[in-house]
Amino acid sequence: MKRIAVLGATGSIGASTLDLIARHPDRFSAHVLAAHRNVEALVALCLRFRPAWAVIADAAFEADLRQRLAGHGLSTRVLAGSAGLTEAATLTEVDTVVAAIVGAAGLESTLAAARAGKRLLLANKEAIVMAGPLLLAALSAGGGELLPLDSEHNAVFQCLPGGRPELTTAGVRRLVLTASGGPFRGRTRTDLAAVTPAMACAHPNWSMGRKISVDSATLMNKGLEVIEAHFLFGAPAEAIDVVVHPQSIVHSLVEYLDGSVLAQLGHPDMRTAIAHALAWPGRVDAGVRRLDLVALGQLGFEAPDRATFTCLDLAYAALRAGGTAPAILNAANEEAVAAFLDGRLPFLAIAEVVAGCLDRLAAEPVRDLAGLLDSDLTARREAQRIIAAMAG
Ligand code: NDP
Ligand code: MG
Repeated sequence: MKRIAVLGATGSIGASTLDLIARHPDRFSAHVLAAHRNVEALVALCLRFRPAWAVIADAAFEADLRQRLAGHGLSTRVLAGSAGLTEAATLTEVDTVVAAIVGAAGLESTLAAARAGKRLLLANKEAIVMAGPLLLAALSAGGGELLPLDSEHNAVFQCLPGGRPELTTAGVRRLVLTASGGPFRGRTRTDLAAVTPAMACAHPNWSMGRKISVDSATLMNKGLEVIEAHFLFGAPAEAIDVVVHPQSIVHSLVEYLDGSVLAQLGHPDMRTAIAHALAWPGRVDAGVRRLDLVALGQLGFEAPDRATFTCLDLAYAALRAGGTAPAILNAANEEAVAAFLDGRLPFLAIAEVVAGCLDRLAAEPVRDLAGLLDSDLTARREAQRIIAAMAG
């Protein structure tokens, strides 16, 4: 029986993970469930999964959580705040940590799980984008293993020999990440001037949280994934390509020196990647519809529209600049996306805010967590200034 800590249990990845745990009660148990503020949803999950621990990251909701759990007669113990998240990620009895918090808020618990040598199932791509070198160092210090949940990286992992080998030794020429193109594929900049958060969050293939949905609409999601692939697999920017594949059936590909190209296919359902990582190196049924190639008929591929969706190249530029540049890109993007979702920033201005921060803030080497958090904060303040200036 593997004991799982689900950080971000009330989110979209959290729900898919818990669906799998519920399908395999003999193999997996939800030992820790963590949320940010959604006490009601967390309590409902505690009633269903009876975890040993519940964590509420916003400590202002701790008393409410304790009261409601007690009201239901549950013996679930409670942790709160960011210290509570870290404690939950490092409990001795936890085998696997599912890092499914959205944004930089997930960084410290992700690092703590890596340092503690847990099997780390990484959905929280912002953590590796911000702090790639620190996360890799924490993983080797902890001696645990990282399995990517992001569908593209999970696909690459599955197409590589032995998961995350040295790419040159393995004869890999190139990684090809597929992108659906998001809800605005084929649109022009004029079309995009007045799009709303509801339009940006209506993804054609995947049902996801609001932040990643907006990232998919700007193609920043693919940009973050290019950086994620660089850190996960040690591939340089030149060896990572992006191809638009509107059906989201091919989740990514690995091209080898001999001309072989291996791909992983499946319906766009995150349970496949999560089931792979939970059961690795075994396999379990994920409850996912089987692929019928004849019914699909055709698969399409096209180049991304880099002139309209400039976030993709901003991410490549941040990766090439190195150091804290990916953290600056991520922080600026988180602030800009939040402002867009609040109706304070037009869609096309998200890329302008990110470009402005990358222009104004010089990248520095990543030394330690404190320095990195400082760069993150500086970038957020700069982004806020640019957003305020745009509104004024
Ligand atoms: P959701 O918005 O659906 O869920 C986010 C989760 O994180 C919720 O449980 C939320 O709790 C929690 N959370 C938010 N802020 C904080 C905080 N400050 N401290 C602690 N917990 C917090 O997001 P998704 O599930 O869509 O995405 C999660 C991560 O997985 C993201 O990094 C995303 O990029 C990545 N990912 C998602 C995919 C998907 O298909 N959804 C695919 C690939 C990657 P609460 O409910 O209390 O607010
Ligand atoms: Mg992805």
